[in-house]
Amino acid sequence: MVASFFDKKNVQAYHSRLISARIARQTVFSGDSLHFARSGASESGVLDAGLLPRLADSLRPEDGAVQYRLSGATERGRPVLRLEVCATLHLVCQRCLGEFVHAVSLLSVLPVARDEAELARWERDDPLLDALVAERHMDLPALVEDEILLSLPAVPRHADGACAAAVTWKV
Ligand SMILES: [Zn+2]
Repeated sequence: MVASFFDKKNVQAYHSRLISARIARQTVFSGDSLHFARSGASESGVLDAGLLPRLADSLRPEDGAVQYRLSGATERGRPVLRLEVCATLHLVCQRCLGEFVHAVSLLSVLPVARDEAELARWERDDPLLDALVAERHMDLPALVEDEILLSLPAVPRHADGACAAAVTWKV
């Protein structure tokens, strides 16, 4: 009895690992961004460093992949993509050139314009608006890269007083 219980549990664990690996690979969204925003759908997954070439130098396998959640919504009458991203990046401190671990946890709300003309109208009303133009085949990894890069500090560095500790630790 005990043995069969554990066998069943192991089989289930094995299958759930297989399924989650398959989902992680298949749900990198590449469909129509405007349709997704309007549908109110939501999906989440992970992106390996191989899909994020502009961040590859800052990602370490031991920290795991970049996690994202993409949801469609309507805000102020506009279809939007809400993109949440969690990642751990290794940056170079610009004060001591030691490694600087930076946790990214961001939420971007990105209105999706039908076309360039609609985007131009929106930007006239709000010059600081961060909006996208609808794409039939959206490049989600590129968008995740863009949003992470925009969120990074202009001059990455350790907290005041922490550089010496980092150098001592390295030596
Ligand atoms: Zn430093």
